Amino acid sequence: MAKNYRSELVGVFGCPIDDNPTVVVEEAGFKELGLDFRYLTILVKPEDLGDAVAGLKAMNMRGINLTIPHKVEVIKYLDELSPAAKLIGAVNTVVNNDGVLFGENTDGKGFTKSLKDSGVKLAGAKITMLGAGGAARAIAVECALEGASEIVIINRDMTRGDELASLINEKTSTHAAYIPWLGTADIPDGTDILINGTSVGLFPNVNDKPNINYSQVNANMIVTDVVINPPETTFLKEAKKRGARTIRGIGMMVNQAAVNFKLWTGEDAPYDVMLDALYRDFGIE
Ligand code: NDP
Repeated sequence: MAKNYRSELVGVFGCPIDDNPTVVVEEAGFKELGLDFRYLTILVKPEDLGDAVAGLKAMNMRGINLTIPHKVEVIKYLDELSPAAKLIGAVNTVVNNDGVLFGENTDGKGFTKSLKDSGVKLAGAKITMLGAGGAARAIAVECALEGASEIVIINRDMTRGDELASLINEKTSTHAAYIPWLGTADIPDGTDILINGTSVGLFPNVNDKPNINYSQVNANMIVTDVVINPPETTFLKEAKKRGARTIRGIGMMVNQAAVNFKLWTGEDAPYDVMLDALYRDFGIE
């Protein structure tokens, strides 16, 4: 049989993109399973996205991730969308099926998988979401599709907060409400799962934490963060002090990469190997 010198290509388009660590996670998985795949970290400026997607097709790449600022804009270049991507209105993963481009949003799926793998039940849960940006929107939609009973969204920007609550109310069977974020926010009574879906606490501002009433966090709550770096945010530390069970954003990120891995390769991703690779990259053993 003739030798094959051609690797399957996947990667990410973004701007800025240099500090995106997904390559470490995906390539650790490819190596573990002996798959001839390469993950490329590619700088694509906003005005070049159409050319980049055409290039993806022309070079027969297997797929691509999209990050800031391309997640919404890319939709007009795609042929098909998953139900979740349609609802969320953003795509972070494209699969190229012989020239037919399929768009999926795996940010929220990574989050729900991370919680489910930790034994957390989303069906019937009362969720409080801090933030209403891209990550919060993807997570809120997936939690609703998993059967959460209620989602309260607390956000500074009223338009974004209101829009997300309306989307959940109109398109899913979950009840949602929006509360404007004025000063120190109260955590609604009966919250089962509290999520920081904002970028507050992200490196280098590692001492920052969302402005909420931490005395209302209790031992019955699951508290999670979308922030990946640092893995243990000040928000999570404060919640842990009050007895809450905490789940790190890094689990969401690696699970999201694991879902993408399966979409592109057809193989189950070696999650632990991929998580270890990211911890090593962050200098944490
Ligand atoms: P967006 O810019 O879309 O949204 C940012 C959100 O944070 C908005 O709701 C914004 O509120 C809120 N926010 C920012 N600063 C403050 C503040 N000082 N006080 C209160 N709210 C604030 O960003 P993304 O949703 O794309 O990303 C958010 C975070 O999620 C980032 O840290 C990103 O790295 C992380 N992320 C993690 C993933 C993972 O797999 N773990 C996946 C994707 C993202 P407002 O609307 O009022 O401006």
